[in-house]
Parts: sequence; structure tokens; C-alpha cells
Amino acid sequence: MVKKVSILGSTGSIGCNALDVIDSLNHNEYNIKVICLSTNSRISLLAEQIKKHSPETVVIGDKKAYEEFKSNFSFPETEILFGNDALSEISGRDNYELLISALVGFSGLRPTVNAIKSGKDVALANKETLVVAGKLINQLIEKYKVKLIPIDSEHSAILQCLAGENISSVSKIILTASGGPFRNKTLKQMKDITVEEALSHPNWKMGKKITIDSATMMNKGLEVIEAKWLFKTETEKIDVLIHPQSVIHSMVEFIDGSIKAQLGIPDMKIPIQYAITYPDRINSVHSKMDFNLFNSLTFENVDTDKFRCLRIAYDVIKEDSSSAVVMNAANEIAVDLFLNGRIDFLSIPDIIERELDRHKPSPDTDLENIINVDKDTRIYLREKYSI
Ligand code: MN
Repeated sequence: MVKKVSILGSTGSIGCNALDVIDSLNHNEYNIKVICLSTNSRISLLAEQIKKHSPETVVIGDKKAYEEFKSNFSFPETEILFGNDALSEISGRDNYELLISALVGFSGLRPTVNAIKSGKDVALANKETLVVAGKLINQLIEKYKVKLIPIDSEHSAILQCLAGENISSVSKIILTASGGPFRNKTLKQMKDITVEEALSHPNWKMGKKITIDSATMMNKGLEVIEAKWLFKTETEKIDVLIHPQSVIHSMVEFIDGSIKAQLGIPDMKIPIQYAITYPDRINSVHSKMDFNLFNSLTFENVDTDKFRCLRIAYDVIKEDSSSAVVMNAANEIAVDLFLNGRIDFLSIPDIIERELDRHKPSPDTDLENIINVDKDTRIYLREKYSI
């Protein structure tokens, strides 16, 4: 049987890994057909992906990159579209079954909503979608009877720990965190962190946005919120534990005191493959664990005075309101400002906190309200910093 898959964000780290996983699955009793691919501006890589996977459609997000692609490449068999509206439109089409959403940030929301509304299962790497619209997404999943399978390694771990268990037997979800490159720095030292230092993550090779989020630990904050919606758990039951080796991808503690953990080498291909084949497991050619290389697993608590973004995320999710949208938008802008050398590292939580103070939270969770709150936050900050 052929499984038809679309990958949004196919030239990013998750997207490229997903195509590798699909290749290996296709050599191994699976038959996956790639229907749609998308990139923001990496057109040469997209062209290579088209040659290899012959998708029916590709979408290019950036206007200049789109024009350049049209003049430099010719793929008469492939429909070439431009922009965010096209991403949303192709997500709602009937020509595929599983959406792999590997877009960055808020831009992943509308395509995911359209995919669910047209009855598609979604393998989700784009955690921001659940951060800004978790309640809405859960309502839609129920209404349209689709599956939402996490690609995020921690959430894949939790899903695997929960297999065969009753959610009411869970006493704690323990999200592990590498702690990023700065867990041993003092708050004073963190002021002078350079972009280069922040972009060198100890364990994972990822896109820029998520790498900075890992360095501030906002990534873990986003993941706490993601876990709340995915597993319908109270935030009080979600703990974060630093585990620098990134071998235990997360754990679940049950009411009888038993704990399950999911382990594996830090390689995103493993959770990506699980999301594609879920709930089945298929042979994998990817590297297996060698315990001699990881003979010491250590744990420590997070210092939220140093990593304020994590505390902000915990505060925001208490409310279950539009504040999460503001936090996410302000974080995206602040990360951009930091990457462009406009602000220092510790100003990232400052900007987010100031935006949250300015915002009057509303419990309204419809799509239009979410989009408006996001837009207002961005417009205000872009003006303020003349971006
Ligand atoms: Mn993660």
C-alpha cells in the first residue's frame, strides 16, 4: 500500500531527515510517495529534492527565491507555487494522507489547521502550532477524527512511554533537557554570549530558531506547553530535568512510583520514523545505541533565574489564554533581533516579559483571534525596533 506524504519545511533539518527516513523506509517494505515539498528560500536544495522525489507540487515561501527558482530551474512535471496562502491551500488538498509539518514558528499554524480539517493525520515537528493554538487544535482533532503524532523527541518519548497505559495513572511527565550550551555559565557570563556561541548546541544539529530557543531554554518552555496539549495533562504534572547527554528523551512517572523512560542516541530520524510508521515499528538502518559511549547519565535541576524563558512559559500556560500567542510572537522577534546582533542574549526574556505586561489576555481561542494577537504583537515590535 502506498502512503502519500507531504512535507512542509522540507529543506530544514527535520525536513531533510524526514526525506532520508522515507528513503530508508522505501527500501524496507514501506511504500511512501512524496506529494508536496516546501521551502522558504533554499531553492537549490529544493531542486535536488524534486529530482529525487518527484513531488506533484512544491511551494516556495520567499518571493525573490520563487522568481529565481522559476528562471533557473525547469520541472515541467511539478507544480510550483508561491507563498503562505499556497501552503495553506495545498495542506487542504485531497491528494495525500499524512502531513509532516516541519515549518518554523507561527507560520505552521494555518497549514496544520487546514490539514486536520481535510481529515489528514499530522506528524508535528512545529511545536509553536500547539503553543499558540493547543486548545483549538485539540478540538479540531476530535471533530475531524485525525491523529496528531509528535516528532519532537521528548514528546515522541512520552508517547512511547504511554503506550498501553491509562493517562489517569500518570503522576508526572518528566521532560528532559540538554540544558543547551550555557548551563554551566553564570548569569553574569551570559550577558556577553555571542550569536556564534548560542548557535553551537552540544548535542543536536538544528535550525537557527530552535537552536537559540534551546540556548535560552524557551524551547523547553514551548515543549511544556506542547506536552500539556498533546497529553491533556495539568502543567503542575510536567517537570523539566536537565540531562546533558540527551540519551533519555523523556520519562513518565506513574501513580505507583514506577517510571518509564525512552532512550536512544540523539538522532531525530528515530522520532521522525516513529511518527511516520506509528503505531508500528519498522526496521531501521539508523545508528543504534552503544552504551559504552554513554556510560554516565547525569541529571540536574534547571535554574530558572538563569533561564527565565522557561519560567515565563510556565506562568503563561497557567492562564490558558492569548498570552501564549504573545509569548511566542515576542520570542520569534526577539530571537531574530539577537541573531541580527541587535540585542544581547539576556534581552530575549526582557522583550517577552514586556510584551506580556502590555497584553490584555483573552480566553478566546478561535483562529482569527489567534492570528490577530500574533499580528499585533509583531507589528508593535517591528515598529519599536524598526525592522
Ligand atoms: Mn525537543
